[in-house]
Amino acid sequence: MKLALRIDVDTHDGMRDGVPEIRRILDRHGFVGTFFFSFGPDRSGLAVLRAFTKPGFVSKMMRTKATSMYGVRTALSGTLLPSRPIAVKFPQIARECTSAGHEVGVHAWDHVAWQDRLHGWSLEKTVQQFDRAVSAFEEVFRCKPHCSAAPAWYALPHSLEAQERHGLRYSTDCRLPFGADGDPGNELEGAFLPEYGGKAFKTPQIAAGLPTLDELLGRDGWTLERVADVWLSAAGRDTAVLTIHAEAEGRIYAPWFDGFCKSLKALGGRLTSMDALLPPAGTPLPRRRLELAEVPGRAGKVCCVVATRATGCVL
Ligand SMILES: [Zn+2]
Repeated sequence: MKLALRIDVDTHDGMRDGVPEIRRILDRHGFVGTFFFSFGPDRSGLAVLRAFTKPGFVSKMMRTKATSMYGVRTALSGTLLPSRPIAVKFPQIARECTSAGHEVGVHAWDHVAWQDRLHGWSLEKTVQQFDRAVSAFEEVFRCKPHCSAAPAWYALPHSLEAQERHGLRYSTDCRLPFGADGDPGNELEGAFLPEYGGKAFKTPQIAAGLPTLDELLGRDGWTLERVADVWLSAAGRDTAVLTIHAEAEGRIYAPWFDGFCKSLKALGGRLTSMDALLPPAGTPLPRRRLELAEVPGRAGKVCCVVATRATGCVL
């Protein structure tokens, strides 16, 4: 009984405070996970400004306690106040993750720029951004990365192409279609080879299936207890990916996440790094198609595995 854990690090404060706290929680329970770091500027203020123009934003902020989650400094970072670097500023904290047995990977150089501008970037510009994140990773960890995770699951055919040249063992750039009860089920879980925009790629993908805490709390009728129940029941099938954020589960939701880990352990379950979902080398992988689609509770479209009739998934 297990879940593969993806930990996104998106902000300066999430890096400084959230990563050590999540590590303490995981260590306490004997669990491991995969940390995906944003390395460059924290320009979350731009994301907050952008979100303010979207309908329903304020009510979602209230429900998810977003203001106390991010704090005023982060909400202004890159707008009224200068942006602060993320993982390049805390290389020691990043390196401690590997020495504690966690897997580490590339998330972004500039998370907000990727989300806002990837659709308009040329392949050259995308390569430049991705390579910049890879160089920062190499500087911090003194080795090459073997995995990456697209910021906010926003990936396009040219971003997959930018990654191909790095020979990654896998990337996790996509989501599974949202299931009727919040859990997409297991039909499309596990590693696969992606086809996107009519092109076949050779870097395997592992889709993140389970909805995140903020996506679920942003919907009517969802409580912390109900979120934990959906996550715990998914652990039974051993193939689901759970995504958490250093800014959320490592800060104001840390006591709740600790309680979730305790419940998982009491049921005989555990959290693993994402590479635990890779089959032995040489195993043929299925081909699956990707497309942009909406995921409830998340603004804008994200890269999603195309649902087939057989999955019974509700898009
Ligand atoms: Zn992120």
